[in-house]
Amino acid sequence: MKLKLKKLADKLRAIGVNNVKVKEPLSMHSSWKIGGPSDIFVEVEDVSPLQRLVAFAKEYDIPLIVIGKGSNILFSDEGLRGIIAKFGKAFANVKIDGANIIADAGVWVPLLVKLAASRGIAGIEHAAGIPGTLGGLIYMNGGSLQQSIGDTIKRIWALDENGKVVEMTRKECEFSYRSSVFQRKNLIILRAHLEGSLDEPNNIRRRAIDILAERKHKFPLKQPNCGSVFTNNPEIYKAAGPPGKIIEEAGLKGLRIGGLMVSPIHANFLVNVGGGTSKDVFELVAKIRDIVYKRIGYWLECEVRYVTPEGDIAPLHKFI
Ligand SMILES: Cc1cc2nc3c(=O)[nH]c(=O)nc-3n(C[C@H](O)[C@H](O)[C@H](O)COP(=O)(O)OP(=O)(O)OC[C@H]3O[C@@H](n4cnc5c(N)ncnc54)[C@H](O)[C@@H]3O)c2cc1C
Repeated sequence: MKLKLKKLADKLRAIGVNNVKVKEPLSMHSSWKIGGPSDIFVEVEDVSPLQRLVAFAKEYDIPLIVIGKGSNILFSDEGLRGIIAKFGKAFANVKIDGANIIADAGVWVPLLVKLAASRGIAGIEHAAGIPGTLGGLIYMNGGSLQQSIGDTIKRIWALDENGKVVEMTRKECEFSYRSSVFQRKNLIILRAHLEGSLDEPNNIRRRAIDILAERKHKFPLKQPNCGSVFTNNPEIYKAAGPPGKIIEEAGLKGLRIGGLMVSPIHANFLVNVGGGTSKDVFELVAKIRDIVYKRIGYWLECEVRYVTPEGDIAPLHKFI
């Protein structure tokens, strides 16, 4: 980065980009509570300042990473020599009409599920308890019980790499199991049109409560973690089962490196038991993958994304 950080932040404020911070600790924006400082950190509050931010990053050739709640991301202990643009409550409007929801990318998913249920809109209750934003959920095509948010998406509004707003159909989002076009193309999700179906609010609430109770029972929710670290690859699933079962059968529950431990509750969760670092995550993930490969002949792949200090982002195993 050629410009001094303070000067850079002032330049951003001067072009109308608000909520700019310098050297923001990324551990505060990661559900794993891991990550060094980001040179620049901006909380997104509207589309036009974001467009200016995208143009600025392009002009000065500064890496720009978009995040939501950081519940599926590992940041480096070194942080980021670039800009984090965070979607959160400053960009979280929701409009409802019948079974249609238009919601901003920063909406907190548990809140959206609750709102939809209260208005009698069924179809997204499978996402109850997923601790991310709508943008992050769409990017990951996340969900539970073999369902995915993409199933209810009708349209997405996104910013392309030139900062132009584009409207995309569900087909153009190329949703498949835990995958979307947003993982392959440089697009920033701004807003989504979801279409559910109408049902009694109490029926929807009951389904959501059942899902929440199951999650509470199955997942280690008390220690910082990033949800499922490894993806449920269909080929590996067929041969050996889901990653949690594979890791458990390899006897790795409770395995600890530094502050990171394979959860004794669910082996696909690596919990930060205190002072965990990105180095610990890398070492633990590498060790699990090696042991599993020797046992079953498959390399587990990561669902969780890693952001390098230089601003590259990809599934964690690609950096091992
Ligand atoms: C306890 C726990 C339980 C979980 N359970 C589940 C589960 O049941 N099912 C499931 O699918 N996931 C689960 N997750 C994982 C995670 O919560 C989801 O993937 C979530 O949707 C990520 O949202 P986020 O806002 O935190 O995204 P982040 O982690 O901030 O980002 C994830 C990816 O999305 C990109 N991104 C974020 N916002 C945007 C945007 N607006 N435009 C473009 N790209 C964007 C980021 O660059 C990054 O690559 C769980 C996580 C935890 C910690």
